[in-house]
Amino acid sequence: MFSDPDREHLDDVSKHGGRVRSFRHERGNWASFVYVAFHPREEFLEMLEELESVARKHGVVLTKMEDFHISLSQTVVLRHHWINPFVQALRDRLCSVRRFLCVADQLKVYVNNEKTRTFLGLEVVTGQQQLQEVVSEVDKSLQEFNLETFYQNPSFHVSLFWCVGEVTNSLLGDCLLELQKVVDEFEDSDVLTRFYADEISCKCGNKVMSIPLC
Ligand code: AMP
Repeated sequence: MFSDPDREHLDDVSKHGGRVRSFRHERGNWASFVYVAFHPREEFLEMLEELESVARKHGVVLTKMEDFHISLSQTVVLRHHWINPFVQALRDRLCSVRRFLCVADQLKVYVNNEKTRTFLGLEVVTGQQQLQEVVSEVDKSLQEFNLETFYQNPSFHVSLFWCVGEVTNSLLGDCLLELQKVVDEFEDSDVLTRFYADEISCKCGNKVMSIPLC
C-alpha cells in the first residue's frame, strides 16, 4: 500500500484498534502517529483475558487492542512527500535521547476526542518525564510541518481495550476497582507491566519507521 500512495485507502475501523479518522481520507494522505511500542509477554495477554471477563460481568464488552503502544502524538495527516522529511526531522531530534524504563500499571479510562470510543488503558507511572521530553521534540517536528501537537497535559498510557461509545460511567467505580485488583494481584504483574522504551516509532499508513534511542 505504501508503495502506491495514490491508491484509495478505505478506512476500516476494525483494522486499527478503534482509532477513528476525524478527517476525510484523500488520495496521497497518510494517517500517521508517533509512539513507543510495547510487546507484551504471553502472561500479560492472559491477564487481559481476566480483565475482559471482569468488565463483561459489569456489562461492558471490550475488544482487545491489536497492538500495544504509548502514543506520543495524535493521529495526524501527512502528505506522501512529507513522510520522509518528517521522519528525518524526528530522527535528528531523537537520536541523542537515551533509552528509558516505563512502568504502566494503573488502569484508567480514556475517551477519544470525538467521544465515539472508550478505551481502557494502563497509565504510565514511571517514565512520564522522559516521555514528556520525547513529546516536546516530537511536537517541534509536528510544528515544523504545521501539524497538530499532542495534548497539553498528556496522560501517557498503553490502551488495552476499546469499545464503541462513551461508556466511562459503566467502567468507573466498582468495576475499575475490581479490574485494578486483577492487575495488582496477577502473578508477576510488576514484571509484566515494565518495559524499556528503546526506540520511537512512526507509523504512516501501514509503514512503520523506527528511531533507535541510545
Ligand atoms: P491511544 O491508545 O493512545 O490512541 O489512546 C486512546 C485515546 O485516549 C485516544 O483517542 C486519545 O485521544 C484519548 N485520550 C484522552 N485523553 C487523553 C490524554 N490526556 N492523554 C492521552 N490520550 C488521551
